[in-house]
Amino acid sequence: MTPPIVRTLAELRNATRGWHRAGESIGVVPTMGALHDGHLSLVAAAKAACDRVIVTIFVNPKQFNQASDLDNYPRTEEEDARKLARFAVDAVYVPDVSQIYPEGFATNVSVGGMTDVLCGAHRPGHFDGVATVVSKLFTQTSADKGFFGEKDFQQLMVVQRMARDLDIPIEVVGCPTIREEDGLAMSSRNLLLSDRARIKAPLLSEVMQEVAEKLAAGESFAPLQAAAVARLTSGGFTDIDYFELRSCAALEALEWPTEPARLFAAAWLAGVRLIDNIDVPVVPASG
Ligand code: AMP
Repeated sequence: MTPPIVRTLAELRNATRGWHRAGESIGVVPTMGALHDGHLSLVAAAKAACDRVIVTIFVNPKQFNQASDLDNYPRTEEEDARKLARFAVDAVYVPDVSQIYPEGFATNVSVGGMTDVLCGAHRPGHFDGVATVVSKLFTQTSADKGFFGEKDFQQLMVVQRMARDLDIPIEVVGCPTIREEDGLAMSSRNLLLSDRARIKAPLLSEVMQEVAEKLAAGESFAPLQAAAVARLTSGGFTDIDYFELRSCAALEALEWPTEPARLFAAAWLAGVRLIDNIDVPVVPASG
């Protein structure tokens, strides 16, 4: 059975009021739709941890810094509802813009510091858009737990910081990145890749994996970074927005993974921006 689709905040509050009264916990999985197995892994995690699960589908205009990117973003609502049917979620909240940003909406939620780097540096306003919409989705759903993918690791950190700073009583849970068999991180944007580009796309995770192994073997990052960028470029990627080694705690740039760290990359392939990040084993500082 396809799950109930809820389109207004009033209907959503009607449902959550009853659940709260019954003492049931609520999990929320915020998405922009075009659901794939990465999203569905978050839904499964939410179902396992909470009595009630709300999946939200909202293509948030505030987090797109290019109008063409917003226009081209895939929208597959019927198929999404079908995919959610087997999880027996309690509601799919698909608000239109007026439910999130009503006439006169004038508030911006902006998380400082960690948004100056990586995607924040390349997509002006993007994380303000994310923090603003997610804070609204948290308060609108009044969820106890929110489920987010490590695929968007910087976003996960921004959302955790925002919820803590604003005293929103929600636990933000990070879930591992789900990949295609060839290593490409699942993403709604993969639908925009041509067949030829799709064949080239796994090079990104392949190169990241190799760099992670060399870092684990004690090599320093700068020469590996230069070689990685060159390989991606010769493999068909046009622009490499970033390919960086950063700490997990504060997203500080590192030369060696002497503390918990990840490799982060964003690169353009045939007009599609792909992002990925992977864990790097800690190599204790010598001497
Ligand atoms: P999006 O619809 O792209 O905004 O993503 C919605 C949520 O799904 C975010 O928390 C993403 O981090 C998460 N997500 C997207 N792709 C993946 C993936 N391949 N594995 C795990 N989570 C993902």
